[in-house]
Amino acid sequence: MTSPADKETPKTSNFLRQIIEHDLAKGTYSGRQWGGSPGDAAHHATGQADPAKVRLRFPPEPNGYLHIGHAKSICLNFGLARDYGGVCHLRFDDTNPEKEDTEYVDAIKDAVQWLGFDWHNHDETNLYQASDYFDFMYRAAEYLIESGNAYVDEQSADEMRIHRGDFVKPGTNSPFRSRTPAENLARFREMRDGKLADGAAVLRAKIDMASPNINMRDPAIYRIRRAHHHNTADKWCIYPMYTYAHPVEDALEQITHSICTLEFEDQRPFYDWLLDKLAEGTLIASPHPRQYEFARLNLTYVLTSKRKLAQLVNEKRVSGWDDPRMPTIVGLRRRGYTPEAIHLFAERIGVTKSDSWIDYSTLEGALRDTLDPVAPRAMAVLDPVKLVLTNWDEVMGADVLDDCSAPVHPHHPEQGTRQFKIGKEVWIERSDYEETPPKGFFRLFPGNKVRLKYGHVIECVGATKDTNGKVTEVLAILIPDTKSGTPGSDAVKVKGVITWVGVNDAVQAEVRLYDRLFTEAHPEADGKDFLENLNPNSLSVVTAYVEPSLAKVEAGQRFQFERHGYFVTDLKNHAAGKAVFNRVTGMKDSWTK
Ligand code: ATP
Ligand code: MG
Repeated sequence: MTSPADKETPKTSNFLRQIIEHDLAKGTYSGRQWGGSPGDAAHHATGQADPAKVRLRFPPEPNGYLHIGHAKSICLNFGLARDYGGVCHLRFDDTNPEKEDTEYVDAIKDAVQWLGFDWHNHDETNLYQASDYFDFMYRAAEYLIESGNAYVDEQSADEMRIHRGDFVKPGTNSPFRSRTPAENLARFREMRDGKLADGAAVLRAKIDMASPNINMRDPAIYRIRRAHHHNTADKWCIYPMYTYAHPVEDALEQITHSICTLEFEDQRPFYDWLLDKLAEGTLIASPHPRQYEFARLNLTYVLTSKRKLAQLVNEKRVSGWDDPRMPTIVGLRRRGYTPEAIHLFAERIGVTKSDSWIDYSTLEGALRDTLDPVAPRAMAVLDPVKLVLTNWDEVMGADVLDDCSAPVHPHHPEQGTRQFKIGKEVWIERSDYEETPPKGFFRLFPGNKVRLKYGHVIECVGATKDTNGKVTEVLAILIPDTKSGTPGSDAVKVKGVITWVGVNDAVQAEVRLYDRLFTEAHPEADGKDFLENLNPNSLSVVTAYVEPSLAKVEAGQRFQFERHGYFVTDLKNHAAGKAVFNRVTGMKDSWTK
């Protein structure tokens, strides 16, 4: 089985590829050993030469469902590992005790696999959770204390903030900074043993309070927090800070290239400082991992923050994480996106070092370009009105139904044909009839001829209306000997071709027409609350008729409805006897202004 991730798509070089190629050429990591699982320097020293040429990781915090921004990061990290003979670890960054949930853990695994990637590799299961490293993190903290590189600070949060300084003003040393290693060690152990209240003290790295980089002004690395942890329960009442935990996680896992988003650029000096110290103390293997930053994905009309997406879910602004309007991977999937489309999108947007906004049409473009060659075609009428062929009985015979056929895919005759019947009554789009046609309107109006696609040429003779003037039936006559595919059928020239389905054999379906979730390209521009920019018309549900070839399709199948765009049977609500389609996207770009 080939997954989309295995497919040879042409790759454009980028700065990360260049860095990896350079490291491979130089053999930067060629001497590394791998102990078969994450661990300290001693553990890896017992191992074999690492079978993986590079190690990358995707380290989500399990506090929500992954979104399209994470998909970019997954394609990047797993894609680089695949392309350079390496592996990519899936690591749950669960060092923050309060926010994790196993629902999210399962959803994240599912999303990575759906995208076609795997953390099983070289007989290893590279699925890790950062909380498994708490013991080592604690030991490393004691090492930093003993080597004079960390101290327990008992200033109040306010004092600490004031003493930190700012961009123009250097910080000032804490009065606790000159404690001896022995004092610090004793105090840190009291923190661990629950002798101090939450917030009463933090462990800080001892670096430089005057550093121009504020992140280097003795950053906190451990805090006291009495919180139950889903993995370690109540074993700990102190937890490592993210900036400390993350480099340690990378080092224990022997990550070579630790790729993160640009906002961590200012953390890189601390990343290196910390790992240099731990390598000096031979706690971790050398050479240690290096951090590289790339621009996060910003997509117009879309929020890429788990926290904000959670707010939409919790406030019931959408039906759930998998609402087809959500930019989550489960939402995109239910909307009809394919892994191939997301891979193509990730490849097209590339990897850069400066932040920018990607237009939503780029995502939809990738989807159309991947669906068009493969999606079976079908006819559907989304806003139906009945068309009556008034001379049918005379021309074709009363109750006669005439067979029509159409290719499953116009460019793939080998995929065969779809069959349906035309009779005296068919459903057409309400907008295909105009009593008084505007300029350039070539479809149905009294006296005009059009072709019913794959069927006959007809001439409109008028319409019946209800008392409100609303059209109830469009009336037309069938022109004999004009059926598509029969000799001489094109003798009558027409300017318009309309889609239709037979009243006799059409299948009724619920069709959900989705539009952008926000009315603004930048839902939070100028400090606005994104909730104020929710599009009230992001969903409309219609009762449509689709051709009989769609009577028995399974959930999750994608089609092109001719003229209308791409549609997918809904993964949750579509069932035998109750067809439910989601509009994936229209035929053409309707997003760029
Ligand atoms: P969120 O604010 O949505 O929770 P996060 O960055 O805090 O985002 P994590 O779970 O920590 O979420 O992210 C896991 C990985 O996904 C990180 O390595 C991060 O760099 C990457 N990532 C998250 N959002 C984006 C994005 N918009 N574009 C590219 N990569 C992203
Ligand atoms: Mg986060």
